[in-house]
Amino acid sequence: MNARRIDTLAVHAGALEAPVNAPVSPPLYQASAYVFEDLDEVEAIYSGEKPGKIYWRYGGPNGEAFARAVAELEGAQDGVGAASGMAAICTALFTNLRAGDHAVVTRDVYGGTHAVVTQDLPARGIEADFVDACDAAALAAAIRPGKTKVVYLEALTNPLLRIPALEEAVHMAHEAGAIVVIDATFASPALFRPLEHGADLVVHSVTKYLGGHGDVGAGVIVGARALIERARAYLVRTGSTIPHFEAWLAQRGLRTLALRMERHSRNAEAAAAFLAGAGGVARVHHPSLPGHPQHELARRLFPEGCGGMLSFELAGGRAAVEAFVRGLRLIAIVHSLGETATTISYSVASSHRGIPAAEREFLGVNESLLRLSCGIERGDDIIDDLRRGLEAAREKG
Ligand code: PLP
Repeated sequence: MNARRIDTLAVHAGALEAPVNAPVSPPLYQASAYVFEDLDEVEAIYSGEKPGKIYWRYGGPNGEAFARAVAELEGAQDGVGAASGMAAICTALFTNLRAGDHAVVTRDVYGGTHAVVTQDLPARGIEADFVDACDAAALAAAIRPGKTKVVYLEALTNPLLRIPALEEAVHMAHEAGAIVVIDATFASPALFRPLEHGADLVVHSVTKYLGGHGDVGAGVIVGARALIERARAYLVRTGSTIPHFEAWLAQRGLRTLALRMERHSRNAEAAAAFLAGAGGVARVHHPSLPGHPQHELARRLFPEGCGGMLSFELAGGRAAVEAFVRGLRLIAIVHSLGETATTISYSVASSHRGIPAAEREFLGVNESLLRLSCGIERGDDIIDDLRRGLEAAREKG
């Protein structure tokens, strides 16, 4: 190095030495590519004879460590990170469906997934039917043995927190030669592990509870090794690999996942109970409430709670909704969910914006409905703010 000039030195000085003992937390490997000792090593690493990294898009240490961690939490053989929840969902669909195949999709699927099912599947010659996945008979009628290759469900639906007939769906799908893919974003593996109930692939928007702090955009898929290998290859081909820093942040988020989910769940239960007894509220949708259509199923499948999400309808329609959100001091309008702060969103203007009004009404998403993502603050403070919102809505009325 000594003989080199400053401009060359500036590029090469301070090369990282591998530490002799392990760091207490995963370091961030923010590198786009890796160095080979010689051409023998190139061959050995490419062929898999020797472990090693090549190029960021093929997978880096942070993305792999994060996906391994989620796979362990979900009880899966393998997992792979993705650039977003939607990248994970598209990968799960596109690697298991080809032209001529058929998919059955839960009717109240996330808006982004709805768009993929209605636009991208037909463009690939894949048929899909939406069904009420809480209704085992409707699922049975929709699944076409030999033709249906994917049954796509959500663990807790947005925004009404409905729970699908998962065990029946798994049984019928497997009999028909289909796999079950489940988006478990609203639940997280701290509360619900779909593979334990027979599902084949689990996808998450890591952007939500897994990252947990409102600073990550990423996705993940976990399941059997053969399915994940296909998913990994597709993600690499389409350039949808999880970036290093997102994976690093998300893995840091995982460390507090169980603690957060417990507080999110308790806060949502308390908020649901408060709203259910409050004036000016027409309906509250949360599985902890006895009137919820899957109350009993929730007690069995989600014994530790259903996470921080709930929705409610105000008696005064859109005018009440406008006054309510204006009256809030703590809770911000945010079109995401699952972070430490409590946030609220208006589904007709956000997640369900692209869904035709008649279909929206059919799904139970109307102009009176607000979706709340309970954070990890002190529960009483959330309820005080909800009370402020209700007072503002009442004054307006
Ligand atoms: N699945 C669910 C249930 C979601 O709520 C979202 C986003 O809101 C997604 C998937 C898509 O995730 P991302 O925005 O990370 O692509």
